[in-house]
Amino acid sequence: MGILEVKNVGKRFGGLQALGDVNLSIAENSVHAIIGPNGAGKSTLLNCLVGKLIPDTGSVMFDGQSVLGRKPHEINQMGISRVFQTPEIFGDLTVMENMMIPCFAKRDGAFEMNAIASVASQRDIVERAEHMLEDMNMADKRDMHAAALSRGDKRRLEIGMCLSQEPRLLLLDEPTAGMARADTNNTIDLLKQISDERDITIAIIEHDMHVVFSLAERITVLAQGTPLVEDTPDNIKGHPKVREAYLGE
Ligand code: ADP
Ligand code: MG
Repeated sequence: MGILEVKNVGKRFGGLQALGDVNLSIAENSVHAIIGPNGAGKSTLLNCLVGKLIPDTGSVMFDGQSVLGRKPHEINQMGISRVFQTPEIFGDLTVMENMMIPCFAKRDGAFEMNAIASVASQRDIVERAEHMLEDMNMADKRDMHAAALSRGDKRRLEIGMCLSQEPRLLLLDEPTAGMARADTNNTIDLLKQISDERDITIAIIEHDMHVVFSLAERITVLAQGTPLVEDTPDNIKGHPKVREAYLGE
């Protein structure tokens, strides 16, 4: 049994079957990549895991408990944290203030919006946020406005904000999209370090095959809303169906 078990999940938008019949098992403490062409249903699948969408059919179990019917913040408190396709940080706040938001949410079990309203100089929160900034190698940037960070550092901050909630499963939707190579490599190194040093499972949707092959232990290829194949990176690289469906050969 994986920490995440997706069984027969389907999702339709009007006449469009975005997800057909998705079965997916993600092993605890692994790095599992989900790849596939644009429109394959990758983000839709992720949205079904975090409560942003409710699948029409099937089940989603996290650590033996169903996530279906729970609100996004409840699923977050079960231990699933998600990094969005575009960074979800608050540009008007400093790096440190951004980092304090999830620390409040973790302590108070509050909604993010309540947590934003509570940002104040409370010692335990400051300590927790400072510690996380050090872990993320961002202590020197604590008083910068988040909007002024490089693309890679915005992502680094956002990943740190997720980690400060101590999730057991970290979901990332194309974390290196639009990044220059240097920022992409920094993000790869950061995710490797997180995976090595923490008791955490990482599921990553990614377009950049360099990122996928640098990080993933298992790869699921999604095509037209259905998993085409799931295997190790070495086997995926040579898989004829993958070359045909994904690489367009
Ligand atoms: P991917 O992330 O793999 O690129 P998506 O999951 O975003 O793919 O989209 C899968 C399909 O579902 C696409 O055809 C997309 O246009 C459609 N889709 C996604 N979200 C919605 C929505 N909220 N309403 C209608 N169609 C959607
Ligand atoms: Mg997507």
